[in-house]
Amino acid sequence: MPSPTGDPFLLTPGPLTTAPETKQAMLHDWGSRDAGFIETNARVRSRIVAIANATDSHVCVPVQGSGTFAVEATLGTLIPRHGKSLLLINGAYGHRMAKILDITGRDYQILETPEDTPPNPDDVDVILAGNNDISHVIMVHCETTSGILNPVEEIATVVANRGRALIIDAMSAFGAIELDVKKIPFEAAMASSNKCLEGVPGMGFAIISKLALEKAKGNSHSLSLDLYDQWQVMEKTSQWRFTPPTHVICAFDRALDLYEAEGGLAGRGGRYRDNCRILVEGMAEMGFKTLLPENLQAPIIVTFHMPADPNFDFQSFYNKLKDKDYVIYPGKLTVADSFRMGCIGQLGETEMKGALQAVRETLSEMGVTTGTPA
Ligand SMILES: *Cc1c(COP(=O)(O)O)cnc(C)c1O
Repeated sequence: MPSPTGDPFLLTPGPLTTAPETKQAMLHDWGSRDAGFIETNARVRSRIVAIANATDSHVCVPVQGSGTFAVEATLGTLIPRHGKSLLLINGAYGHRMAKILDITGRDYQILETPEDTPPNPDDVDVILAGNNDISHVIMVHCETTSGILNPVEEIATVVANRGRALIIDAMSAFGAIELDVKKIPFEAAMASSNKCLEGVPGMGFAIISKLALEKAKGNSHSLSLDLYDQWQVMEKTSQWRFTPPTHVICAFDRALDLYEAEGGLAGRGGRYRDNCRILVEGMAEMGFKTLLPENLQAPIIVTFHMPADPNFDFQSFYNKLKDKDYVIYPGKLTVADSFRMGCIGQLGETEMKGALQAVRETLSEMGVTTGTPA
């Protein structure tokens, strides 16, 4: 059962299935100095900051590229060249930030937990108490590697009490899981156009404290990833430095209309929680087991253990689901053999039930009687 455009449904962590209206919003050309485009850009930026309830204290600084560009730009802009960070890792996106800090030459200490285990806020407190040279704590909100929800509020409290700054990779959670700066104080949070806000891929952004940005001049190792400079130019001229992804921004504005029409954070988060529940329950009926217990599972992407049945072969499972118009995602775990199915994007009950039906038919075609893992 294909989508209205005939494209398969993407049950992945991105790129994601987008609404027809969002795709249609790209059927024009805009000049970067076009007044209509400048207005759209300003509107997108202010809507994003409002989602974090940060209008009075923070600004949205967008950057061309995928989400990782925004992560690298933010770390390079905000962490002074001789600054030191504490990086919390429990998956591939945490490791990616370690690589960024290595390449940009910023010193850091790691607190690593297994992929199915959130960081303990007490451990963070002990490390901060013993290391006055740590200025920033860096963490991932939802670690998309496993789908785990990290305790961002508890950690933010510890970090604030110790007078340090928090940087959150909120990429896969922003817009669906609450990130209210009044409850979760952060210096910066990064996300992109193409995750829970359901725009098309092509731009990332950071929501950054104005006070922190004012102090960030000259920190960046990079010209194109310098968010201080991007911010300054955008404030002064209302324009992007370098060619803006015009179509992506106009599609994003439309996607934000749909977000608001759906009821914002409550509506979007509610739909994803329903998607997640339908998926987990339906897969459990076929014997599949999730990596994470319910209390650690974010309603973003679900990791399932590989079935033990000798007839099960992941590549042919993947191909047969794709033939039925559902695209899933391989696992990225080191702790267990697994695959993932996403709950985000322009998908609802019908699509989740369609995906379950496709899994059921595929298992039967493969001669697999149960999804139960070893
Ligand atoms: C998707 C994602 C990113 C960015 O990945 P890109 O492929 O560069 O868009 C970063 N962090 C997390 C947690 C993500 O889910």
